Amino acid sequence: MKVLIVDDSKPILMMVSDILKELGHEPLTAENGEIAFEMLTSGQQIDLVLLDWNMPVMTGIEFLEKNKAESAFSTPVFMMTTEKSPEKIQRALENGASDYIMKPFTPDILQNKIEMLQELLG
Ligand SMILES: [Mg+2]
Repeated sequence: MKVLIVDDSKPILMMVSDILKELGHEPLTAENGEIAFEMLTSGQQIDLVLLDWNMPVMTGIEFLEKNKAESAFSTPVFMMTTEKSPEKIQRALENGASDYIMKPFTPDILQNKIEMLQELLG
């Protein structure tokens, strides 16, 4: 799968890219929601988005809310964040996130979530 990682932390982008490559996926990266939104609406193939919450320029939740308002793309989005309050989780899910991964996470957790998505997509 082509997986777009959206995070303002370069170490996180590198770490998650490495995990995805190990799992046989092709990582792409963006350092904020605005860049990611442009990539998703530019027509390039992206199968899954892993989305940080706290980022400059456009946060993860702003990214979700913009896509909900504009119905710009239907690519599945997993939140990948340290934000763990039930209110925030609910807000992300209500705005179109398919799943929620708490940082820090192990490669196993990411692998399981991606496999569940692949089964859903058939
Ligand atoms: Mg961040």
